[in-house]
Amino acid sequence: MSQARELYEQLPYPQVVVVGGGFAGLEMVKGLNGKPFKVLLLDKQNHHCFQPLLYQVATASLSADSIAHPFRTTIAPMSNVAFRMCSALSVDPVARVVHTDRGEVAFDILIIATGSSTNFFGNTRMEQEAMQLKTISQALDIRSDFLQDFEAALYAQDEADQRQCLNFVVVGGGPTGVEMAGALAEIRRTVLKREYRELDSDRMQIWLVDSNDRVLKSFSERNSIRARDYLESMGVHVKLGARVTDYDGEVVSFSTGERMASHTVLWAAGVKGVLLPGLAAAEVPKANRYSVDRYNALIGFKDIYALGDVALMLEEGREHGHPQVAPAAIQQARWLVRNLLRSNSGSTMEPFEYRDKGSMATIGRYKAVVDMGRVHIGGLLAWLAWMFVHLMALVGFRNRLQVLMGWAWKYLSWRNTVRLIIRPYVRKATVTEQESSVTTP
Ligand SMILES: Cc1cc2nc3c(=O)[nH]c(=O)nc-3n(C[C@H](O)[C@H](O)[C@H](O)COP(=O)(O)OP(=O)(O)OC[C@H]3O[C@@H](n4cnc5c(N)ncnc54)[C@H](O)[C@@H]3O)c2cc1C
Repeated sequence: MSQARELYEQLPYPQVVVVGGGFAGLEMVKGLNGKPFKVLLLDKQNHHCFQPLLYQVATASLSADSIAHPFRTTIAPMSNVAFRMCSALSVDPVARVVHTDRGEVAFDILIIATGSSTNFFGNTRMEQEAMQLKTISQALDIRSDFLQDFEAALYAQDEADQRQCLNFVVVGGGPTGVEMAGALAEIRRTVLKREYRELDSDRMQIWLVDSNDRVLKSFSERNSIRARDYLESMGVHVKLGARVTDYDGEVVSFSTGERMASHTVLWAAGVKGVLLPGLAAAEVPKANRYSVDRYNALIGFKDIYALGDVALMLEEGREHGHPQVAPAAIQQARWLVRNLLRSNSGSTMEPFEYRDKGSMATIGRYKAVVDMGRVHIGGLLAWLAWMFVHLMALVGFRNRLQVLMGWAWKYLSWRNTVRLIIRPYVRKATVTEQESSVTTP
């Protein structure tokens, strides 16, 4: 056994197991660094992913490594922290172990920060056919897919075929959907027009569909209207009061009865918490989150906490819990660190208080919206504020520098440069066709 491992194993502190190194989990680990706890971070990935900028990887503005940060780099200087790459499969709260795909992990204190996954609301065909944006791997799939569509459009037999290749349907008018639709509109204006000269760029159509009566429903009405105006000025068709009900990989069906041929549907219409079997008593099925008290402790369990997207903390004025956003996850983690330290030193824990710092979304160059209390700004100022906040929130100096350089290049040169199809995206329909062609006599 190496000396470092021996020292870690011999630490005379309670074993804290943190499942998930997203915004909440990583903040937790950083907060417990150097404190009297033996911390073990478990994650199925070997890196933290900065999800707010995933859409820029998906739309070829940023490289994947500029928004991902290896856990081992972060924890290398932390002698009381270890990392294991594995998938947590379930929890046994009586035996106090987490079952993983690599074996059992014992805990004294368990912190579940598994985040959320895309919610298809039970529509299995949609889940199979539509693209989603939650991980770097999915962002790279989207990037490959739209570039492959552009290339395929050049081989299209007729106009209808070509339009289908260039028809992009984004479902969900929240920040992710709005940002994706805006970024695709910029690609049409720059990449498609300039570099696919043989294609008529007007044939690329972008649809943003939402069942609500406005986009960015959680924002102020003023900024919702502003965002919609920006999108429409960029040529995005904003289709409100309509739901996408089905997609077979070729044709999208709407609740209005309309049908539209498209090779790409991006589903950004909701998320659900990633729950671990074994803690059903604290699950809130409709919300797909764990019911936690004001200390983030799972209701009905001892020494088990949940943070971030997977935690549902009800309080007056927050009947649906806190928003599933990075600041809520980070604040809960910081608060829990303080509470664990308080508890360790014999003081009582204090109930969590959320500080809403506002919301922001960017639609395109010089076009963003920011809500901060009663202040609702848009345009250049909001865009600069959005860039500054996201830059500062990234993990690691190298990532910040890389993103800054990426943006400087993109906005000065009007080019989305990261347009490599390295790992071609194989459409599920194609896989099924190939499989069936092999098995059919
Ligand atoms: C495309 C997109 C854009 C977004 N934009 C914004 C934005 O602009 N502003 C904002 O504030 N928020 C934004 N969000 C939301 C924000 O990213 C989440 O609220 C935040 O990541 C939640 O943090 P978390 O720590 O709860 O979970 P996450 O950050 O999702 O981390 C969960 C971690 O758990 C790991 N994990 C999951 N299951 C297991 C398992 N079984 N075993 C081991 N490890 C596991 C995952 O690999 C991951 O590392 C966006 C989200 C997406 C998807």
